[in-house]
Amino acid sequence: MKNFFIILAMKILNIGLKIARKNGGNFLGKIAYDWNPEIFKYFKVDCPVIAVTATNGKTMTNNAIGYTLKQSGKKVVSNIEGNNMETGILSTILKNCTLTGKIKADYLCFEVDEGYVPVVFKDFRLDTLVILDFFRDQLDRNGEVESLILKINDFLKTYNGNLILNNDDPNVSRLGHANPDNNNVYYFSVERYKYATDTEKEAGEGKFCPFCKTKLEYEYYQYSHIGKFKCPNCNFGDNPIFKKATNIDLQNRKFEIDGNELKIKGNSIYLIYNFTAIYSVCSLYNIEIEDIKKAFSTFSLNNGRLEEVKINNTPTIINLAKNPTGANVSLRILNEDDEQKELLFVLNDNIADGHDVSWIWDINFNNLNNVSRIVTSGTRAYDIAIRIKVSGFPAEKIEPYLNLDEAVKAFYKTKVKKYVIANYTSLQPTRHALFSYKEGTKK
Ligand SMILES: [Zn+2]
Repeated sequence: MKNFFIILAMKILNIGLKIARKNGGNFLGKIAYDWNPEIFKYFKVDCPVIAVTATNGKTMTNNAIGYTLKQSGKKVVSNIEGNNMETGILSTILKNCTLTGKIKADYLCFEVDEGYVPVVFKDFRLDTLVILDFFRDQLDRNGEVESLILKINDFLKTYNGNLILNNDDPNVSRLGHANPDNNNVYYFSVERYKYATDTEKEAGEGKFCPFCKTKLEYEYYQYSHIGKFKCPNCNFGDNPIFKKATNIDLQNRKFEIDGNELKIKGNSIYLIYNFTAIYSVCSLYNIEIEDIKKAFSTFSLNNGRLEEVKINNTPTIINLAKNPTGANVSLRILNEDDEQKELLFVLNDNIADGHDVSWIWDINFNNLNNVSRIVTSGTRAYDIAIRIKVSGFPAEKIEPYLNLDEAVKAFYKTKVKKYVIANYTSLQPTRHALFSYKEGTKK
């Protein structure tokens, strides 16, 4: 009875929020969870539940899974707004369930914060868990990535559902060994691409075998520590591959899986990994290849996730970078593009970013390809300017502005192609400043 009243109260509250035109974020879930932390047990779900977790890429991947399933005519309930902790997922469930806790959908798709996988799915159905990557995040001190991985590993010891793992990330593929009795572990991989390197180009984790501590041997690195690796001592990494992306052609934005040519809207190796994971999910649920192809070719990258727009008639690519790997992925795309371009880097140090911005020293600014000018902004505009200068980029071509609108104005004084990198709390203000400038130029 208690849960019935919690749901009823949240439904009424949700109507109130709608009238007040407020989205509520994780508000409903927070109240309900405080009321009864065991409420997850109450819901009745009779459709597959798919969850995606990772350091980078979980929002895009979850949204694209939902988008592809919808393309094939399925009803999908998803936390598309990205509230990915237990209270955010609970909010999504509360908005979509009946008073008796039934959720009517063909699929539930959730993006879940790495730390909350065991919390949410302790008491809630889970059929397929996708794990993309683990990197050091901006707030992490030494060892925090490892403790996160161990927490998920503990959860997986008793999990028997589908587990879709990136075989090219040693931090992820190790989790396939958590439960030796689980026969539903599927590894995906991506064939070496044009800009892969023989040595590690960017800061990464995963240097030693988690089982026997031997140094891992890499055939190649795609980006950061993602690549084809193997432990020379115990063969860790040598797994049967369920789905492999081949013939990666970033310039023409296409690749192949199972001999099917797949077109996408972005041009990053990082996206190929995400789409290979999505393809793996679709394949487990027998989604028609034509629906997959159509969905992949029309899925728009937006909200500062490799978002491509035109501002002042100038092509502009905006990407969020909450950690060194995110920034390095953006710089990779910039460096793989031979055209002349300019970069705007916006760095804040608010609570959600971490006051400590020393992670910028793990960004690889060396040998930028055809970058004629860099504008910096955010509360730490000068820190990032100094970081870039130390990498050898000419100081006279770096322009720091504490004021974001002034930075954007200076940035668009030329018509050269633009790349924008913004960290966590600076992303939306940066998008706002860019789009306001765009509106202003139309008048
Ligand atoms: Zn080993």
